[in-house]
Amino acid sequence: MGERGLLVMRVLALGGLLVTLVATHWPRLQLSSEAPSDKVLHAITYGFLTLLVWRATWFARLWQLGGAVVLLASVDEWTQSLPPFFRHTSWNDWTADLVGVAVCVFLLWCSMSARGSTGELRRAVRAASERRLFDRPFTWLAMVTSAAVGALVGGAISVTVSRLLLADERPLQTLFLGAVLFAAMGVDWTVRAGVRAMAKQIIKARLCLQCGGAIDVVGEAGQCPDCGRSWVRQQWVAMPNLWSRDRGRLRRFLLWRIPRAALIAFVVVGSLGMYVWAALMLVDVWFGQRIAVPGDMRDLFAYAYALAWIGLTIRLVRSAVASKQAIEGLECVSCGHLLRGVGVRGGVGVCPECGVEFIARPEADAWRVPTPSSTA
Ligand SMILES: [Zn+2]
Ligand SMILES: [Zn+2]
Repeated sequence: MGERGLLVMRVLALGGLLVTLVATHWPRLQLSSEAPSDKVLHAITYGFLTLLVWRATWFARLWQLGGAVVLLASVDEWTQSLPPFFRHTSWNDWTADLVGVAVCVFLLWCSMSARGSTGELRRAVRAASERRLFDRPFTWLAMVTSAAVGALVGGAISVTVSRLLLADERPLQTLFLGAVLFAAMGVDWTVRAGVRAMAKQIIKARLCLQCGGAIDVVGEAGQCPDCGRSWVRQQWVAMPNLWSRDRGRLRRFLLWRIPRAALIAFVVVGSLGMYVWAALMLVDVWFGQRIAVPGDMRDLFAYAYALAWIGLTIRLVRSAVASKQAIEGLECVSCGHLLRGVGVRGGVGVCPECGVEFIARPEADAWRVPTPSSTA
């Protein structure tokens, strides 16, 4: 399990790299004035490349990923000035590349799951679910389909909205951006739904997190007979649903937590944006470059701001959810019942109030003890 999906990711990342380098070095490439802004295309290209390289798992940390792609963008921009290509090096292009990388890295950070007491156990199940998902050809078909549907719907919506509400000077750019955004959202939604479904399978059928084989669970811990990966009984406890029993909690989230997160994110991203803007103005004045001023760069910064704002809002809302989930084992995540004194077997207990399983706290880390035969 996990080999085929990763291979496809790596092939895609290499393909993305190749397409990027060819597109930026194509001799005398001229875009028509109707086409999406050159800067927006730069940012989107480098944003997607960053995402593909991350999924290929060549880098373990986000800062390494960001550093590597920024380096690549710098070399790419520099080699364009070489004679055979008849292109030119531009500070604005390079800045647009950086904006794409920065937004992508920021959104990746926003989408990472927050830590909790049982977080690592949940993350291991999530990683196994993801590998299982991407190993299936059907997943890729579903992703392509949802991207296509998203692009059609997004293009239609954005063109309609901009026709009716705004005096749009670049309808093609709007069409393009709407299509890209909705395609990305479609793929994201498909992957999330798929990971949830795979996690359900793994938990229900008690599958090995390494090889996906079914495990005959006897006792509290053991090793997979096929691949030797150690397992603990707790890893098959499903994450309790926060919302199913507590309507008041859902209402508080919708009316108070989410608007508050959106406001905080607006202020934080806005302040960061102001620093970046001020730095670019300084560069403009200092070196006599024009980066912060041109209209297409302002467009790009506005899009980057909107994406970063949405991403941070989601991150803040999710960390509020995670802090509720982090009390698992002390308090029932599902109904709020206090669990002190409730009997636990093999690190797993059952809430006497609502009957939902929970992972007991002290043993929650036991699964991490490595065994000689385990393969990571
Ligand atoms: Zn196994
Ligand atoms: Zn309960």
